[in-house]
Amino acid sequence: MSETEGNPVAQLDKESLKQKYKEERDKRLRREGNEQYIEIKDQLAHYLEDPYVPMTQREPVTDHVTFTFVGGGFSGLVTGARLVEAGITDVRILEKGGDFGGTWYWNRYPGAQCDTASFVYMPLLEETGHMPTEKYAHAPEILEQCQRIGKQYNLYDNALFHTQVTHVEWLQEKSCWLVKTNRGDEFTSQYLGMGTGPLHVPKLPGINGIESYKGHSFHTSRWDYDYTGGDPGGALMEKLADKRVAIIGTGATSVQCIPHLAKACKELYVCQRTPSSVDVRDNKPTDPEWFKEIATEGWQQRWLDNFTANQTGGEAEEDLVNDGWTELSRRVREKIMDLSPEDRVPAKMWEAWEDADFEKMNEIRARIDGVVADQKTADELKAWYRQLCKRPCFHDDYLGSYNEPGTYLVDTDGKGVERITEKGVVVAGVEYEVDCIIYASGFEVGTPFERRSGFDMIGREGETLSEHWGDGMRTLHGLQVHGFPNAFIVQATQGANLISNYPHNLTDAGKTIATMVAHAASHDFQEIEATQEAEDKWVELLMTGPGLMIGSQDCTPGYYNNEGVDPGPARKSFVGYPAGAVAFFNYIDAWRSTGNFEGVDFSV
Ligand code: NDP
Repeated sequence: MSETEGNPVAQLDKESLKQKYKEERDKRLRREGNEQYIEIKDQLAHYLEDPYVPMTQREPVTDHVTFTFVGGGFSGLVTGARLVEAGITDVRILEKGGDFGGTWYWNRYPGAQCDTASFVYMPLLEETGHMPTEKYAHAPEILEQCQRIGKQYNLYDNALFHTQVTHVEWLQEKSCWLVKTNRGDEFTSQYLGMGTGPLHVPKLPGINGIESYKGHSFHTSRWDYDYTGGDPGGALMEKLADKRVAIIGTGATSVQCIPHLAKACKELYVCQRTPSSVDVRDNKPTDPEWFKEIATEGWQQRWLDNFTANQTGGEAEEDLVNDGWTELSRRVREKIMDLSPEDRVPAKMWEAWEDADFEKMNEIRARIDGVVADQKTADELKAWYRQLCKRPCFHDDYLGSYNEPGTYLVDTDGKGVERITEKGVVVAGVEYEVDCIIYASGFEVGTPFERRSGFDMIGREGETLSEHWGDGMRTLHGLQVHGFPNAFIVQATQGANLISNYPHNLTDAGKTIATMVAHAASHDFQEIEATQEAEDKWVELLMTGPGLMIGSQDCTPGYYNNEGVDPGPARKSFVGYPAGAVAFFNYIDAWRSTGNFEGVDFSV
């Protein structure tokens, strides 16, 4: 028996794979990093227009509220709901879209659905009594859940839609925040919540000639159903039957909408720079009888805890969600458990993780050969990088789309679309004339926070948040910042940092905020602020952790690793609680339950 027989990892020829990954990555590296993308403004501003809800005129507001939340997506909704439950009903949500929903307001492209199981992804299911109709719900149902939360907790009453914040400033003499918006509003608020989300500003690829194109074009987050026909529910886009369409980008958005485009377009040209890894989805409708059995009191929290434990290597007897996300972790865990106890040292554990990854990616690549009829296309769809280098995708119809007549993969071999002309796109010197270009080119990530949000926060003594974070993000629990009293930043970094189920971070933060605000209200405190010492200690603790779990510079470029450009030392602060997500949720639950709120000053 040879040394490698019966050892799947050795058979993979790890060294050749590593070499191939490196070659493919190097092809894609671009010195400009984030600068390769175009900021959408000025003559391109029409790409940002809201195609879904018409803007209505209203008078500016000039009053005072207890709590203002910037962003009407999951963060604002769950924080609002928890505040209302805690008796703080004077909550105003400001939202640039025409309704609640955030990501799910904007992303209505055909086929949009959650990638993490609905039972853990959709917030406040138990509170609203909603049963997700599918394991991975489609976008309209998630948007409806947002609206349901808004209605149930009366968050519509005080909300301002189609409104963008332009200025927020702490007024020390009044112990409150001054908020100004692009609709002329100028009001004060005792508390401020920020939940603008990580991916909300669409970007365009910086392709030569992009402004010269004379056909129709739009970004996937502003889907033009007037042009395509069909609807967000997935109805056939009948107006595309005589259209030649190019879609630029093959990230998670494209993977979901391409099956619909492939069925509808006369000709579809998919312009690919880097293939996504696309694993099995296995979506299914929810059986109401099964749901009745599982949906007993406290069910969603149990599912959240169970998913997080399975996904991040915590203790769990069973795997309730049991999908590609939890499988990913299970594989790594099993490989580590295969090591003898004395071999369970970091270097060997990293190697075991890498082995599990090689196996998984080989399976994903092999799956393509089993589905895609044309071998050249199949080969070009293979992703040569580690699974977490880019957003892992799961879909059962994407690969088969390339068997549809009239659907063509235009692989650019890592170079990207060469040029856009009046008539279409040019790849490797060949012009593809099209009636419409759809930009599935993603969202700004590595650009400055104040550019994406459209304002900077001005805290005590005039310090801005970007100044405070000049050398890297600094918070207590990822939520509060010293010098920014009564403000809460709702996001995942420096907290649980649970990437596989982002909403879990948000719902938990909502609880923490409501507990603190209710405590202040019941004791007549006017201000809540993380102490300098607590913030310093928290950041120090974060630095003792294993560092970044995603975003390695060895990865193929993408927004996970700042497009392959070293982001500098500030990047070190984009980490989570060193002991992991389960430990963070346990820690913060205990912290808020004691009522002592160690590290936070409450003052009158
Ligand atoms: P991405 O940023 O993931 O993808 C952008 C795409 O555009 C990439 O394929 C990129 O190629 C390509 N591109 C950029 N410039 C060029 C160029 N010059 N020529 C050709 N192609 C180019 O955006 P998405 O909207 O797909 O996804 C963004 C994120 O949104 C996801 O990562 C995920 O977090 C989230 N999402 C979640 C979903 C869910 O949970 N259900 C569904 C959809 C999105 P390259 O890879 O080479 O850079």
